[in-house]
Amino acid sequence: MRKEIIAGNWKMNNGPSKGLSFLEKLNFSSKEGQRIIICPPSIALGPMKESLVPGLELASQNVHEEEAGAYTGELSAQMISELGIAISLVGHSERRSYYNETDEIVNKKIKRVLGQSMEAILCVGELLEEREAGREKEVVEGQVKRALEGLSAEDMKRIIIAYEPVWAIGTGRTASADDAQEMNGYIREVVEELYGSQVAGGVSILYGGSVNPSNIKELMSKEDIDGALVGGASLDPESFAKLLEY
Ligand code: PEP
Repeated sequence: MRKEIIAGNWKMNNGPSKGLSFLEKLNFSSKEGQRIIICPPSIALGPMKESLVPGLELASQNVHEEEAGAYTGELSAQMISELGIAISLVGHSERRSYYNETDEIVNKKIKRVLGQSMEAILCVGELLEEREAGREKEVVEGQVKRALEGLSAEDMKRIIIAYEPVWAIGTGRTASADDAQEMNGYIREVVEELYGSQVAGGVSILYGGSVNPSNIKELMSKEDIDGALVGGASLDPESFAKLLEY
């Protein structure tokens, strides 16, 4: 059975001291089978890992696509793993748009993450103009297929997919639960085409894009929405706790 995953992506917010105070203030009890993941800025991963309470997991927001070398300011998957962090986001739309991450780079990053026996949360999603042109499925299918190129069915056990329509991220504009379900169901079909029904049935597919305590319940009621990747509403411990309870 697929586990429910609620992941908070803090982006460039909440450094080490705010991260530690978030952990102190977070009053939560996870539901049966629920995974709770926080993706703070990398500099907060070490201190937060030391103060982590059971039931919470930490993830990196990014890794570099190369193993090591002259890449000033970057962090490798191996370095993240050395901290005891076992998950990384890959291909978030902000990285794709501001740092020119192509599907080829996303694919390399996933392989680095898997190479450290970590899990990857692969983010995919279409731009507004692509949806308006009726190309959203074609775009997302291409992103999924190119990101997963060269991965085995065994590797897929460590892949989580997050559908995040770019027009819904940080805009307060959420995809309707039906639209989100339709795309998540489609992504599962794409995974089935690539790896068969057993893998497709086991892969967790999240929705992200302006998820908040008042819309999460309806989204989570949908068959192919296995969790949420949340930005803004995950920054504050009270609002994050409400998301977990929904
Ligand atoms: C995100 O950062 O992945 C995200 C979905 O942000 P927000 O919830 O703020 O739209």
